[in-house]
This record gives sequence, C-alpha cells and structure tokens, in this order.
Amino acid sequence: MNAKQKERKRPQSESFDKLDLSPVMRRALEKAGFEKPSPIQAELIPLALDGYDVIGQARTGTGKTAAFSIPILEQLDSLEDCRDPQAIIVVPTRELADQVGREIKRLAVGVPTEVVVLAGGRNIRQQLRQLENGAQIVVGTPGRLHDHLQRRSLRTKDVWCVVLDEADRMLDIGFRPQIERILRRCPRDRQTLLLSATLPDSVRRLAESYMQEPEVIDCCQNEMSVDTIEQHYFTVAQDKKLDLLLRLLEREQPEQAIVFCRTRRGTDRLWRALSKKHRACAAMHGDMAQRERDRTLSSLREGSLKILVATDVVGRGIDISTISHIVNFDVPEDSDDYVHRVGRTGRMGRDGVAFTFIVPGQGDFLTGIEQRINKLLIRDSIEGMEPEKKVEAEPESVGEKPKRNLNPMRRKVTRRR
Ligand code: ADP
Ligand code: MG
Repeated sequence: MNAKQKERKRPQSESFDKLDLSPVMRRALEKAGFEKPSPIQAELIPLALDGYDVIGQARTGTGKTAAFSIPILEQLDSLEDCRDPQAIIVVPTRELADQVGREIKRLAVGVPTEVVVLAGGRNIRQQLRQLENGAQIVVGTPGRLHDHLQRRSLRTKDVWCVVLDEADRMLDIGFRPQIERILRRCPRDRQTLLLSATLPDSVRRLAESYMQEPEVIDCCQNEMSVDTIEQHYFTVAQDKKLDLLLRLLEREQPEQAIVFCRTRRGTDRLWRALSKKHRACAAMHGDMAQRERDRTLSSLREGSLKILVATDVVGRGIDISTISHIVNFDVPEDSDDYVHRVGRTGRMGRDGVAFTFIVPGQGDFLTGIEQRINKLLIRDSIEGMEPEKKVEAEPESVGEKPKRNLNPMRRKVTRRR
C-alpha cells in the first residue's frame, strides 16, 4: 500500500464551520445536536470530500458513522438523476446496519434521500421491493449484500463510494470472501473508505488490494491508552473528598499520582491540605510561571515528586511513564478532558489506574464518560466514605448479584439519584 501517512496537521475540531458543508447539512447537524466534529470527523470529512481513499482508525463511539456519511450525503445525486445505489456501506452486524441506516436518515433531513438497509435475517422480498423503487445509499451486512449481488437485485454500476465500517471486526468473523466479491463488483474508480479500530495485517492486505493510495488517519492514541487503564469511581459527599483522597492514597500507595482539580484556587487549596501529610507533593496550574512548572515537571520525571495536584491545562502535555495513578478529585469539564487526564497514566503499556470522585447529582456526568470511552467505570468504595444515603445498607436479598457487579442495567439503577 502506498499509504501517505504524511505529517498532516491535525485540524482543530472546534466547529463544523471549517468543514465547508452545505447549509442543509449544517441544519441537519444542528438538529441532531452535533455542535462540533469529533476528531475522526474533523480529519476524515475534508479528505473524503476531496475524493481520497481513506483508512480511518478510531474506536467505537467516536462518531465514525457521521464521519463517512456526511461526505456521502453531501455528494449524492438525487433519485431523479440516478435510481441505482451510489454508495454501499458494509457493516458486520444487522443491528449495526439498522443503526447506521437510522443515523444516515437523521443526517439527511431536509433532502429526500432513499436509504435501504440490507441486513441478513430480514424479509428479502421487502428489500427487493425497496431496491426496485430506487435507492441512493445501501447499508448492509456482507452476506446479504452478496446475496443481492448474486440475484442482480443490487446494481453497482453507479456506485462511487464503498465504506467498510468496522473492517477488522468483519474480517474477524470471516467475511473476507464476501467483502472481496462486493468490492470487485463495484467500479474501479470508486472511492473506498475503510474504518477500523485496529490495523492488523488482514486489514492492510485488504486495503492494499482494493484501495488507491489511501490516506491514513489514526485517532486511536488517546482512546487506546485509556482502554488499558483500570478506571474506578467513588460516590462521595463534597465535604468528604479530602478525607477520601487521603484514605485512597494510603490504600493505593501510588508510585506517582496526579490529582486533577477543576480550578486554580482549588488546586492550591488541595495542595496545601495534602502537603501536611505528604511531603513529596506539588501543585501546578496556569497561574504559575513557566519556569516553576518546568521545575515541577522535571522533579516528577526524576521521581522525587510523588504527588502532583494540577488543573487540566497542565494535564494535557504530561507524558511520564511512571505515573501509576490518576485521581479526578473534581470531575473534568467534559468527557474529552477525562480521556486526556486518564491518558496520563498507563502509558507505553504500563499498568495504570484512575479514580474519579463523583458527588451526588453528578451521575449524568459519569454516564457521559462511560459513553465516551465505551466502557463502564468500576464502582469502588472505602468504608465510611460513602455519602449518607448510601450507608443505609441495601438488603442482601437471596440471589442478589455480587457487589462489584458490572451489569450495565444494574449499574444504571444504583447510580442515578
Ligand atoms: P462509532 O461509529 O465511532 O462507534 P457512532 O457513529 O455510532 O460512533 O457515534 C456514536 C454516537 O455519537 C452516536 O449517538 C452519534 O449520533 C453521536 N455523535 C456522532 N458525532 C457527533 C458529534 N459531532 N457531536 C455529538 N454527537 C455525535
Ligand atoms: Mg460505528
């Protein structure tokens, strides 16, 4: 593959304005509540609009569907001009096919758009009828798409874009032959977009044979690192946070820890309180002179500093592989900041653990983080530190699941209050 992994400056993803989208698309995004593009969207959309083949590496939950759907919708011919499919989106599961179909329709509001979902296990007659009535975008699973190709009900002569979503997963479950047949049946000068969480050899080979000089986007770095980190949360009353932190440090005996606070003043206050018990402790925030910040960082690097209390400003750049613990003493402003904070530990394959303090009423924030990282945080507790309400012991009824249960449904019930 002649992949051009050139030094591309990462576009700042602060707004959709920069992406040069049509007014109707802007309205659809607004209606969908999308305020700013996710990193994969900020990078993939302009390249796809320019006609490049693109390999996008990004994990689940980072907005890949809109990343490939927006450029397709922006360039679609109307049904009057073209009755046969112009774009085919291949996904590994039926559920995903439905979900992608729904998301595309949501982004297509304002322009009549025919999206047909061709998933296995569904009524094929209805699918045949829909294709016959005209389709602009087809979303399907490899087996069923292939089936329609065999029946000649799915015509590919007008296809200008093929998307392989979750390519690694599709190859994992043995869809390679069908995917290859689909790709071979589509016009050679089409555009191919491939989305994958990882780039194993199997995906590279597929890309080599079926793509033309693809651009490679890797949005996985942050997400990847937080994936290997054990992430816990505590529910705690606001006025017990300091006690909880002291008890936690005692329990964990961290090699090195960063404790994140939201404000500069809060950072100073916590640092003063902590330094009474811990000597190798420092604070760092945006009010401090650069020289002082540099000095603090280098003592963190050489290991003489054990605990750093900091704001998000400094959280971003720190790359020190010996940091074993992250404590979110205050919840971060948004879930992206969470990923950045937590990404300060568990670097280069080392183990890391992160603790987030949630005060009653911040349950939604916790849910936001979990959606962002696509993973549930583990509930943790230290005796005597739970907020009042929680102390009334839950009845240990017969057959109740063990305390550290990760069943998402159960977690949702216990958390909200
Ligand atoms: P992925 O394919 O990467 O797993 P999805 O495309 O399914 O992720 O998106 C996950 C969720 O995020 C969906 O509910 C989607 O509507 C939403 N979403 C996507 N892009 C944005 C955005 N720019 N702003 C807000 N929400 C978004
Ligand atoms: Mg997806």
